[in-house]
Amino acid sequence: MSGPTAVGPRVAIIGAGLSGLAMAMAMQDAGMQGFTIFEKAQDVGGTWRENQYPGLTCDVPGRFYQFHDAPNPDWSHRYAAGWEIHRYIRRVVSDRGLAPHIRFGSEVTEARWEDDHWHLRTSDGDEHTADVVVAATGVLHQPRLPSIDGMATFAGPSFHSARWQHDVPLEGKRIAVVGTGSTSAQIVGALAGTASHIDVYQRSRHWVVEMPNPRYSRLTRALLRRFPRLNMLGYHAHRAVLFDWLAQGVVEPGLARRVFQGIARRNFAKHVQDPELRAQIEPDYPPLCKRLIIAPNYLTALQRPDVDLVTEHIDRIEPEGIRTRDGALHRADVIVYATGFDAAAFMRPMAITGRDGLTLAEAWEDGPRAYRSVALPGFPNLFTLQGPHSPVGNYSLVRIAETQVHFVMEWLRQMRAGEITAVAPREDATDAYYRDLRAAIPNTVWDTGCRSWYHDAEGNVQLWPWTAKRHREMLAHPIPEHFEIERPAVADAALSPSG
Ligand code: NAP
Repeated sequence: MSGPTAVGPRVAIIGAGLSGLAMAMAMQDAGMQGFTIFEKAQDVGGTWRENQYPGLTCDVPGRFYQFHDAPNPDWSHRYAAGWEIHRYIRRVVSDRGLAPHIRFGSEVTEARWEDDHWHLRTSDGDEHTADVVVAATGVLHQPRLPSIDGMATFAGPSFHSARWQHDVPLEGKRIAVVGTGSTSAQIVGALAGTASHIDVYQRSRHWVVEMPNPRYSRLTRALLRRFPRLNMLGYHAHRAVLFDWLAQGVVEPGLARRVFQGIARRNFAKHVQDPELRAQIEPDYPPLCKRLIIAPNYLTALQRPDVDLVTEHIDRIEPEGIRTRDGALHRADVIVYATGFDAAAFMRPMAITGRDGLTLAEAWEDGPRAYRSVALPGFPNLFTLQGPHSPVGNYSLVRIAETQVHFVMEWLRQMRAGEITAVAPREDATDAYYRDLRAAIPNTVWDTGCRSWYHDAEGNVQLWPWTAKRHREMLAHPIPEHFEIERPAVADAALSPSG
């Protein structure tokens, strides 16, 4: 990266997914061109590049899953397919001329704060210096494979859902899908009827809402293209009615929660009328506790003759298939592990060292934490997008990223104006924030008797326990007293009483 410029601080953005690109666009809009995006892969898109499994669809409506300043009139359906979102992201990169800022194939392996700057090392051996680092490395980023005896002995292909092997033919094959989360529901719905047989391995139960995915007519798309404001009307309607209200329901007991839970229970009962199947899959905890699965045809697929739900736990994997604890061998040609991700990885395995040699491993010894989801005590000028305790529960990640980007921009503007050089949240302000956060957790629906990636190994909820509106409010303006701020020598002199 070149040296500091008059157009603002030099910012290293790590990751060219939706969050990293939101950061880049905000800097562009503010006339700050001094940013470089480090991307480990050869393409943009983050999760929408990495996940390419059959049936991949975003269960947040496209109208709400797009950049605020780049509304897309061309979503084909209410819930956009993964490839469509990926195409949209690529188009935004092209329209906004962001490609020259991106270093592809450049994974940041190390970031060290030294001499008031960040020193980065990348997988290609290069070194870079930046004033600010914005980690936009995603939430669910490191696939988690189970550890089951005999996995390596399986004779056919097997892979994690986020590492789909497109060269493996599935037509007419017996497919085992391990896991019953959102990913599994989409894969099973898409492959039912193509495979000769699917076995779905359930370890614990999930609430599922079967929701149709209507296509937008040509007329609708033409109207949205002609009148972009209509698109934004859809955006605001979704935000107000669905997400702000739903978000309130998940963090506070009351009417919104009762309404959404009632809808989920009724939808489930309507789609699973077979009492035997219902007894096997209906959860004994309230809806919304784990992430609600919204899928167009999963419950219907489970009731097909060529799809079996296996509730017996897996004992081991053998060359011919999966042996369950009751001794039965379930033959399979292909095994798909839809077993989720390490939700506590965040920026890791990148080695990050802050002030006075403090490592991220030391700072997060008791688990990931960040001031209001965006900044870490002891790590000056390091900001996280979708960081620890971000409001990722049933909300649009794009909107969350934009809220966090707004907060980072507040600091970048002060740096460009020469008012400050470095900033990090105070330890006591972060402690106080976490006291409030822990006190709010018992109000949330995630604390009502289930376990999922929303919890840490001890069962503590790892999400933002307030509304998304509160997230916007808490990140609207930085509170200077909550931060250790370093100012340039000349600004210090001007601010001091004798200066
Ligand atoms: P997930 O929700 O963590 O589900 C993983 C599944 O694998 C669970 O059913 C889990 O069982 C099972 N599992 C894990 N380890 C296992 C083992 N050793 N043996 C047997 N089963 C095992 O992961 P995901 O489905 O990939 O979804 C993760 C998140 O990604 C979602 O919650 C959502 O936020 C996001 N996502 C979003 C969309 C979208 O449309 N926007 C689509 C897909 C995913 P337990 O239930 O017992 O833990």
